[in-house]
Amino acid sequence: MRGLISAAARADGSAANFGEWIDKTFGRGIGDIFLRPYNTKIWACPPEDMNCTWIGDRVALTDLARVVRNIRDVHDDVSWGPNSRFRFPKTGGTGAVWKRLAALVERRMPRRMHFQHPAARVDTAAHRVTFADGTSLTYRHLISTMPLDALVERSDLASAYREDASRLRHSSTHIVGVGLHGQAPASIAGKSWMYYPEDSCPFYRLTHFSQYSPANVPDSSRQWSLIAEVSEAPEKPRDVAAVIAGTIDGLVATQLIDSRAQVHHTWHQRFGHGYPIPSLERDAALNVLLPAFEQRGVYSRGRFGAWKYEVANQDHSLAQGVEVIDALLDGAEEVTLHRPEIVNARRPARPQAVERG
Ligand SMILES: Cc1cc2nc3c(=O)[nH]c(=O)nc-3n(C[C@H](O)[C@H](O)[C@H](O)COP(=O)(O)OP(=O)(O)OC[C@H]3O[C@@H](n4cnc5c(N)ncnc54)[C@H](O)[C@@H]3O)c2cc1C
Repeated sequence: MRGLISAAARADGSAANFGEWIDKTFGRGIGDIFLRPYNTKIWACPPEDMNCTWIGDRVALTDLARVVRNIRDVHDDVSWGPNSRFRFPKTGGTGAVWKRLAALVERRMPRRMHFQHPAARVDTAAHRVTFADGTSLTYRHLISTMPLDALVERSDLASAYREDASRLRHSSTHIVGVGLHGQAPASIAGKSWMYYPEDSCPFYRLTHFSQYSPANVPDSSRQWSLIAEVSEAPEKPRDVAAVIAGTIDGLVATQLIDSRAQVHHTWHQRFGHGYPIPSLERDAALNVLLPAFEQRGVYSRGRFGAWKYEVANQDHSLAQGVEVIDALLDGAEEVTLHRPEIVNARRPARPQAVERG
C-alpha cells in the first residue's frame, strides 16, 4: 500500500522501460513481491529490456481509491481485466474453435486448406512460394503467419534483413499437462488460472483445465487436471525431463498436491517460439521489416508474424488476418496491427501487467 501511495503521488505517466513502469505505477511493494519476479519468470528476460508500449499507449494509473476501498471492505475485486469473463468450448479444448471454423471454410471452399505442407522458400521477387516437397505456387499477395524471423531466413531478402530480424527477441515455452487422481484442493475451487512468481516452482502459470469443462477429464468425479507453463530463454535451454520433474515437485511445493502418487500421467510440448518479447528494439526492427516485405506483396501477420505481443492473442491474430484481407480488397485500415490501443481499449482499461496469453 505504501508503494502504491507513493507511486500515485509521483506519477508523471512516463517510463523508459517496463521495469520503470512497474516501479512508477505500482511502487516497490507489489513490484518486488509480484510484478518483477513474475514478469522475469514469464518473459525469461529482465523487465528493463522490455518496452512498456505493449501495456497501453497511455500508461494506466492504478485506481488507488478503489484499492483502498477494497482493502478496507475486505472485498476481493475479481471483476476487472479483459478476461475476467471468457467463453471456452465445452468439449475439444481451444482447438475446437478452430476446427469448427476450418469445417466452415472447407464447406464453402473445398480442398483449399493444406496441412503438413511447410513453405521452404519465399521468392519475393518472383512472387513464388516453394514447399518442402518441391511443389510451388505463385501469388499476387501472400499472407504469412510463420514467425517473421523464419520468413526472413526463408526468403530472398535474408541477406539484406537478417540483422534486423536478429533484433526480434522471443522466449520459448514448455507446456506440461498433468492428469491427476482425485479432486482439486478447495484452495483452487472455482479458479481458472493462477500466477506463480515464487522460486519454489518452475512454472509461471497454472491453468486449472478441468475447471474449464468437466469434459476435459475422462471422469470429473475422480480426476482433475492442470496445465503448467515454463518459460525458457533461447540462451538457456532447459532439459525436458527436468522441466516435467520440476513441475511435479513444484505442485507439491505449492501445496496443490500432497505427493507424486496423485499424478496419473503427464504430457509435454515445447514451443520454440513461445512469447514475442516487446523488447526495446522491437518496434525499430518491425518498422523496417514489415514494410520491406509489404512492398513486395508479402504481409506477415499473427502472433509471431507481426511480433506484437499486445495484439497476439487468438482473437487479435484472427482479426489481423481478416483486416489485412479487407485492406487489400477495400483499402480498409488494419486497426488491430497498427492501432492496438484502439482494439485493446474496447476491453476494460486497467493496468494489465499480467495479461493472459
Ligand atoms: C503458452 C501460451 C498460452 C497462450 N494462451 C492463450 C490464451 O489463453 N488465449 C489466447 O487467446 N491466446 C493464447 N495464446 C496465444 C495463441 O496461441 C496465439 O494467439 C495464436 O496461436 C496465434 O495464432 P497465429 O495463427 O498467429 O500463430 P500460430 O498459432 O503460431 O500459427 C502459425 C502457424 O504457422 C505455421 N508455420 C510456421 N512456419 C511455417 C512454414 N515454413 N510453412 C508453413 N507453415 C508454417 C506453424 O506451424 C503454425 O501452425 C497462448 C500462447 C502460448 C504460447
